[in-house]
Amino acid sequence: MVALSLGKKLLELSDNKINLFWLKFREHMSEIDYKAIGLKAGLEVHQQLDTGKLFCRCPSKLKSNSADFSFTRKLSLSASELGEFDRAAMEQAHKKITYEYLFFNDCCCLVECDEEPPSSIDSQALSVALQIALMCNANIFDSACVMRKIVLDGSNVSGYQRTVLLATGGEIYIQNKKVPIQTIVLEEDAARPVQKNSEKTIYSLDRLGIPLIEIATAPALQTPKEVKECAIKIGELIRRTCKAKRGLGTIRQDINISIANGARVELKGVQELEMIDKCVEMEVQRQLALLRIKDVLKERKVRAENISASFKELDYIFVKSNCRIITEALKSKKHVFGLKVCGFAGIFGTEVQPGRRFGTEVADYLRARHALSGLFHSDELPKYGITEEEVDSVKADLNVSERDAFVLVVADENKAKEAFASVAERCLTALNSIPEETREALPDGTSHYLRPLPGAARMYPETDLPKIIIHKSYLKELQKKLPLGLEERLTLYKKVGLSNKLAEEMKLSNYACLFEEAIQKGIDGKRCAVILLEELKRLEREGFDVENICDEDILAVLEAERSGLNKENTVEALKQKAKNPSKKIKEIIREFSYQKVSDEEIAKIIKEILKKNKALVMEKKERCLNALMGDVMKELKGKADSSKVALNLKKELMELIDKNF
Ligand SMILES: [Zn+2]
Repeated sequence: MVALSLGKKLLELSDNKINLFWLKFREHMSEIDYKAIGLKAGLEVHQQLDTGKLFCRCPSKLKSNSADFSFTRKLSLSASELGEFDRAAMEQAHKKITYEYLFFNDCCCLVECDEEPPSSIDSQALSVALQIALMCNANIFDSACVMRKIVLDGSNVSGYQRTVLLATGGEIYIQNKKVPIQTIVLEEDAARPVQKNSEKTIYSLDRLGIPLIEIATAPALQTPKEVKECAIKIGELIRRTCKAKRGLGTIRQDINISIANGARVELKGVQELEMIDKCVEMEVQRQLALLRIKDVLKERKVRAENISASFKELDYIFVKSNCRIITEALKSKKHVFGLKVCGFAGIFGTEVQPGRRFGTEVADYLRARHALSGLFHSDELPKYGITEEEVDSVKADLNVSERDAFVLVVADENKAKEAFASVAERCLTALNSIPEETREALPDGTSHYLRPLPGAARMYPETDLPKIIIHKSYLKELQKKLPLGLEERLTLYKKVGLSNKLAEEMKLSNYACLFEEAIQKGIDGKRCAVILLEELKRLEREGFDVENICDEDILAVLEAERSGLNKENTVEALKQKAKNPSKKIKEIIREFSYQKVSDEEIAKIIKEILKKNKALVMEKKERCLNALMGDVMKELKGKADSSKVALNLKKELMELIDKNF
């Protein structure tokens, strides 16, 4: 109740109390009645899959070493068939950025470079995505079309991302609530940004093409807590398949958020699950603050015709300025320009999120659209070396009254013109609404402007690939092998002897499916869990490349251990495999088995066989070597290296022959 009245009270306050109110309001943020203020949020979870790349046969691995080579591209704008330009595309092309791409021989090919048509879709990634669709009870299409989705930031060399809508509908459950799923999509991940400045962005191609499953819910989530719970549930659902990539950056959440009378905002790239509720709270806070600003401006009767983008050069006021930014700019032939904003006194300094003011929102526009590092506004001055006298002179020159604000921009004249057009546009919007936009989530839960919401017409068919046919019989097969639920897993794991701790750890581990396969083959559950959850981790800590060890290798050593390979050698065999990825695991196991028979033992067996067959040796001499070799190996039960045995046998045989003739 406190919360609801807080929401209402906020809208009733007079403007000189705005900031004071926020201090109080933030303390009560957790008590807000989100349903009452009409919060609607939807989640889009993107999770990388631990399979090969989606449309080529390169492995999905991220590189930290230097690239084998690089190449550059630029984005150029072209109109649609209807002669229209996408607003987000125009904004991006306008920046004239060069993109450099880093290529790695062992995980990139001509497909990533957009120099070769894509290969067919990775069958394992497809089956994992379909499993997930089945687990959500979604409606899977009989045939799916690979589409190209326009990408504007250069993160795909081709300028588009391949994406396949596999299913719609379905649901997942949080607490007692059913959350409808809207779409389940399989798509390629973008290239990985390595370095960015206003002129150039460097991308690594290692990440480009790694499969991503995207699960989008309906905007049915009504509190920050529900959004977080839902994200956790979706994460679990994907991890149950044992094919979710792990580690920082492998999962990204986008949140669509709006409140009553607010605007739809897409909050991109929330990486920390722990921050999701906080991000939602902060966006609600921002939208409430912007609504409050709108009401204040309405009370003040500020109208659209009061907002102008016409600005003045004010260099003369700052010739002796102590402001470093200004003096350096003046030296490099830039100028100080000022714009009066009627009726906006106090608004630029109004906090919309902790540490972020309306002035910051406007500065974000200048940074994102015009590569300007920022602006000065009257609510924060005097500051940054700008004196009170200078402020007064600006006010006098621009005819700024008590109720007005001003904005200063340091740039060349063309850039200033564009910048003030954006400032005026943002202030105009503030009179009536909250802009719909794509924002980037920041680590502290706040966010900044990224770009406008993209237009709807961003997809067209991928003409290089045929339709993907999804047979009913294939889905039936997948349905039979769906991953166990978490409770089922715990019960099963405890039954085969795992401790609580190991069972809890195993249930969402990527090894869970392999573990279940192993215990079905009669391998000891506890020993298997120790190998999977402890020994492999230890090898990784010791610097072994455990990625070289595949599921089949692990099963093979566990089976070898069951038939007599000693425990130390099991781990040694895995180490060998990590070091020599091309060597077959069976060969490694065989070599470890040899070591069970010592050289002395081999010598002893050879002597015994020769003694037993003395008559044969006398008769056939060297020609009996092959027959004797068979006998010796039979005696050794294959547990020794045959070439070594053959050498020893030949030596002994020759000695025996020499001795007797
Ligand atoms: Zn490739």
